[in-house]
Amino acid sequence: MYGSHLSIAGGMERALLEAESLGLDTVQVFTRNQQQWRIPPLESAGVELFRQHAHRLHFDRIVAHDSYLINLAADDLELRQKSVDALTTELERCDRLGIFALVTHGGSHGGAGEATGIARLAESLNAVLAKTDALTLLCLETTAGQGASLNYRFEHIRDVIAAIEHPARVAVCMDTAHIFAAGYDLQTAESSERVLDEFDRVIGINRLAAMHLNDSLKPLASRVDRHAHIGRGMIGLDAFSVIVRHPRLKALPKILETPKADAPDGRPWDAVNLQLLKLLEAGAATDSAEIKSLIHKNPLSSGKSVPASPAPQKAKAMKGEKGAGKKVAGKNTGSKK
Ligand SMILES: [Zn+2]
Ligand SMILES: [Zn+2]
Repeated sequence: MYGSHLSIAGGMERALLEAESLGLDTVQVFTRNQQQWRIPPLESAGVELFRQHAHRLHFDRIVAHDSYLINLAADDLELRQKSVDALTTELERCDRLGIFALVTHGGSHGGAGEATGIARLAESLNAVLAKTDALTLLCLETTAGQGASLNYRFEHIRDVIAAIEHPARVAVCMDTAHIFAAGYDLQTAESSERVLDEFDRVIGINRLAAMHLNDSLKPLASRVDRHAHIGRGMIGLDAFSVIVRHPRLKALPKILETPKADAPDGRPWDAVNLQLLKLLEAGAATDSAEIKSLIHKNPLSSGKSVPASPAPQKAKAMKGEKGAGKKVAGKNTGSKK
């Protein structure tokens, strides 16, 4: 099941309509402006429209991503409280919209240390779950381990889940670019199998509710989060081939968070990345003529890296701010990290 993070500009249902036109099976959205704390209430008409289109399209595993402002492990108690409130509101919005899973990065311990951060994160998640009966799954995303962020080791997520009072309401979202940057080797089919086995051993593959399929501009263990188009980064096609053919991962929403815009062949990059994934799933070898021609028709602009979102200067400008280590999207509703 494939999806992409798409914009809700102009109405939440717009993301669904764009996913439909791209031939996707699902979509990931923000349910609010992710760069502001203030969350205006959802309007019933908008909720109804979103649900109608989701129903029409048979999208039963829509994913949402939480705001980048949220830090459930923050050193600062006020920020932590604010984050709990915001995530609770987001979870309730997702529930109203019929969204399957809400992905959260968990947060950054801000220098307090990982053990303290993990304890705080679990406490915050318990507080959120106590405040709402929302049915939407709260999904902990594997991170790249930028700055002081948590959940870049499978063990972190295991320990957080172990401290959750209602563990059935919590799941995991694996982001390929993030785990690779965090040090999990996805460079070959064999190493990718080993990483999936390790995930299964440490967390349990049954906990996986969604995946983010992104290649990585940055090398293994760089701890830097920069997404690249499928097969155009440091991960390459082998890992994606293993993932899309894996029987246990078949039914999971696999979301592209790669740069949008148009590819050289005139189609949206999402369409090109989707075609690549489907070819791999159907059994095409990574060096097959079909795949080679698709790559050949869509060279990356010469000498430059993928136009990753967000723009590098924007990410730089945010450095040093609270919650640094999180990339900040260039747009309100479009790009994803
Ligand atoms: Zn992600
Ligand atoms: Zn990312």
